[in-house]
Amino acid sequence: MPKPKFQTPKGMHDIFGENWKYFDKIFEVVKSFAKFYNFERIETPVLEEAELFTKGIGLATDIVQKEMFLLKTKGGDYLALRPEGTAPVVRAYIQHGMQNLPQPVKLWYFSQFFRYEHPQAGRFRQFWQFGFEILGKQAPALDTQIILIFYNILKELGFEALAIKINSIGDSFCRPYYKKTLISYLKHRSYALCPDCKRRLKENPLRILDCKEEKCRQIISEAPQILNHLCENCKNHLKTVLEFLDDLQLPYHLDPYLVRGLDYYTKTVFEISEETEKGKAVGALVGGGRYDNLAKILGGLEMPGVGGAGGVERIIELLKEKRIKIYKEKKPKIFLAQIGDLAKRKALKIVEEFRKENLPIYESIEKDSLKSQMKLADKLGVKYVLILGHQEALNEEILLRDMETGKQKKIRLKNLIKEVKKYL
Ligand code: AMP
Repeated sequence: MPKPKFQTPKGMHDIFGENWKYFDKIFEVVKSFAKFYNFERIETPVLEEAELFTKGIGLATDIVQKEMFLLKTKGGDYLALRPEGTAPVVRAYIQHGMQNLPQPVKLWYFSQFFRYEHPQAGRFRQFWQFGFEILGKQAPALDTQIILIFYNILKELGFEALAIKINSIGDSFCRPYYKKTLISYLKHRSYALCPDCKRRLKENPLRILDCKEEKCRQIISEAPQILNHLCENCKNHLKTVLEFLDDLQLPYHLDPYLVRGLDYYTKTVFEISEETEKGKAVGALVGGGRYDNLAKILGGLEMPGVGGAGGVERIIELLKEKRIKIYKEKKPKIFLAQIGDLAKRKALKIVEEFRKENLPIYESIEKDSLKSQMKLADKLGVKYVLILGHQEALNEEILLRDMETGKQKKIRLKNLIKEVKKYL
């Protein structure tokens, strides 16, 4: 078959068929956690002022430098398709005066995001994330609660080899000192860094810590670690978060090289991944952290926050790879076949009665021949077929045929729902 002229744009995909079953189940689980922990849903526009992200996420980050879909409106505004959810949520918090509500404000979303990435496994240009954000309070218990929620969502979806990576990247008090120490260490070794890290050294030196290039990894393994350069406040915050994680017996690993790709984080950063059979973790399923300066950067107020986001497509990919079935096939057990005009008219009404009673049923109201309807019923694998012929329609009756035994029973139409319920 020739390749169709029109296809989905690179890195973007249609969602149909079985994939919706995964999406629906993940949504259902996420929603139930949001409800239990008293999060309110929020949906922000797909487009935001580009500056929200350049300021919020940081000019020197990969997302802003390489991955934003930008457009200029006819009015001359620069807008960006949202690459992530936290900056828009904080914008909404400030815009709608949510600081006047009882704090903390807890918000969740299940939305689509856009990044102009090089498409590869688990990386798309349009993808879904679910996120949880707790805004307005600084307590370490909230960091732990965010990690706990994401961990348990993944667990409920069926993952069994989850690993939490956690680190503190300090705050505006201690990070600048650490940055200086790191830069001076790396400067002497810059000749051996990869080209990306050479650039990062000038623009975003902390990101060098999570470079995957072998030659950089070697240099990083001997670099000064931020955990030894945290101020008292950040050290205590981290200690408390870890103690709470211990109490909950969550399997975390303190990773001094975890920095994450967004500039707005302060103190806690974390990622959750699932180990694959080969013992190699694929990309993180969830990432997040604390962002106590973000509201201030966005021109607002002092407003601490902590949150995270899970990648829906990545979760689905891994569920499929691990053959974890997260949904049950619930197919109707009954098919309604009709022959003749009068029967067709009655059949339309019967289907309505089934819908009102919330009883699933297949039909093929456009078909006329009984043979083709029986063939379809057989293909669908139903247990019973209701047959409404012209004579039955006149007599206000219908036949119920057991597809296994071939036995048929006559039922008065007015008793149909009551009778059918006995069989289901
Ligand atoms: P981030 O917003 O970068 O912290 O990412 C949070 C989670 O979203 C990641 O752990 C991934 O599961 C998912 N994610 C991030 N970028 C993409 C992408 N381009 N395609 C699909 N999923 C993504």
